[in-house]
Amino acid sequence: MKVYEEMASAALGELGLGTAAHNLDGIAQQAAAEDWSYTEFLGRLLEGEIRHRQEMRVALSMQFARFPYPKRLAEFDFTAQPGVDRRLVDELATGRFLAEGRNIVLLGPPGVGKTHLAIGLGVMTAELGHRVYFTTAVDIARKLVRAMHENRLTREIRNLTRPKLLIIDEVGYLKLEPPEASLLFQVISERYERRGAVILTSNKAFSAWGEVFAGDAVMAGAALDRLLHRSTVINIRGESYRLKEKRAAAAGTGIIEELSAIASNSSTIPDNNG
Ligand code: ADP
Ligand code: MG
Repeated sequence: MKVYEEMASAALGELGLGTAAHNLDGIAQQAAAEDWSYTEFLGRLLEGEIRHRQEMRVALSMQFARFPYPKRLAEFDFTAQPGVDRRLVDELATGRFLAEGRNIVLLGPPGVGKTHLAIGLGVMTAELGHRVYFTTAVDIARKLVRAMHENRLTREIRNLTRPKLLIIDEVGYLKLEPPEASLLFQVISERYERRGAVILTSNKAFSAWGEVFAGDAVMAGAALDRLLHRSTVINIRGESYRLKEKRAAAAGTGIIEELSAIASNSSTIPDNNG
């Protein structure tokens, strides 16, 4: 009946199944040509709708995440960084840590791939359709101090506790002021209570975290206690990947010694994306 054929497309649209509505004619023709069962026709029609929704969800999660640049775990060269256990990273890439509310702490000097691994795990999380939010310790501190002055701290903290995964990059690169340290602590504490996974990167050994938390060793200890209770710690001791690449390019040109000197004082290396 013509009336039902016309209704089908409009009804799909009204039910919010826009992709199915769009594909209806084409798939119906294919069904007739290939003699599909009614159920196969319906399954194929809905398959397109569901695939489109998943793609939209991933795209939204990627947008929400605010990654500074996109990096994938597949781009990480494990042979260049023997300090990182590939099997351990493969286990993390299953996403089990998200369900368990397990934290991942990446430690090591600049350039060894901490941010790369954090983003890679974040992208993987977004692709599973979860919300993930990338930020740095300094960014959290500044944002929360401003929110506190503007009486919207609760909401701002909620934004940091709700995503399935929070990535806090560069803890310890800059020293925090006491109010900033206590706000960062609140976020860590709230996520711990809710079993929300955190990925954190730092260039500072745990023993130096007193400094990170504005000289408050008690607060640093309480933060570490919560972070490490359910956690996987990856301590990367290797050398900077960028320097290694430069060194390879410079092999035989006599500037290797110069680069080695820079490597031993890596804080002077301009860092343009990590
Ligand atoms: P960190 O956060 O430890 O300072 P990054 O993750 O920013 O270091 O790494 C610096 C740069 O080197 C990035 O562009 C990153 O993608 C790249 N990099 C580091 N380690 C590796 C690796 N093992 N394989 C591929 N690229 C790497
Ligand atoms: Mg980094």
